Amino acid sequence: MVGGIGRRISNVVHTQGWVHCHSAATDASGLTKSIMDELHEYFTSKDLPNKVRIAVACCVNMCGAVHCSDIALVGVHKTPPRIDHENLKNACEIPSTIASCPTSAISPDPTKKSVKIKLEKCMYCGNCYSVCPAMPISDAKNDGIAIVVGGKVANLRTPPKFSKLAVPWLPNNPPRWPEVTDAVKTILVAYIAGAKKYERVGEWIDRIGWEKFFKVTGFAFTIQHVDDFTFARETFRTTPTFKWT
Ligand code: SF4
Ligand code: SF4
Repeated sequence: MVGGIGRRISNVVHTQGWVHCHSAATDASGLTKSIMDELHEYFTSKDLPNKVRIAVACCVNMCGAVHCSDIALVGVHKTPPRIDHENLKNACEIPSTIASCPTSAISPDPTKKSVKIKLEKCMYCGNCYSVCPAMPISDAKNDGIAIVVGGKVANLRTPPKFSKLAVPWLPNNPPRWPEVTDAVKTILVAYIAGAKKYERVGEWIDRIGWEKFFKVTGFAFTIQHVDDFTFARETFRTTPTFKWT
């Protein structure tokens, strides 16, 4: 299929998926196929206001371009790793396992010759499982997909932008992921209806405001959308007020 040039959906950037990578919360390749089966006309022939970059990553380590794409899907875990103490003491190096955690949630548990996790510090990233196979994080019931929107790399018209949270969690529903496919279509349809010619998704949202974005897409605004101020220096919206219009 030839396409992806100009004001179309460009080639989807996606990661490996659960067949190839152990920390995956979803299957990036299957999800990409399901979405593009629905939207391929916007790749080949139907014009959009501007180029739309879709990206899919199967975990928050996101080795795809999810942080700066117009519409991006991220596999998310919602439960902490389960520690298999018996195997951990034989299979894992405890200092490396502790060092693998970006939030310092892991500490030694000398009585068990193992480790423990401070749950309130865990962000379910799965890094520890990459280092220690005795800390599996996959959870068929709770793993799912988040959608972030409005990122771009280009500095044309406006500076590059990070993608921001639109939908915190949708269920993993293979083989066709209907809930995720519907949500992506909803964003695309609202963008086509509301954006001016040449506006990227993020520029359209900046112009109409996030309040209007949630209104036109019908997505719920939830507690997960509220920044926890950890990275406030980079992400602060200069006002703490969220207007509901
Ligand atoms: S996004 Fe995460 S799970 Fe997917 S391939 Fe990359 S590191 Fe592995
Ligand atoms: S999942 Fe991530 S944050 Fe949680 S304990 Fe493992 S490395 Fe730390």
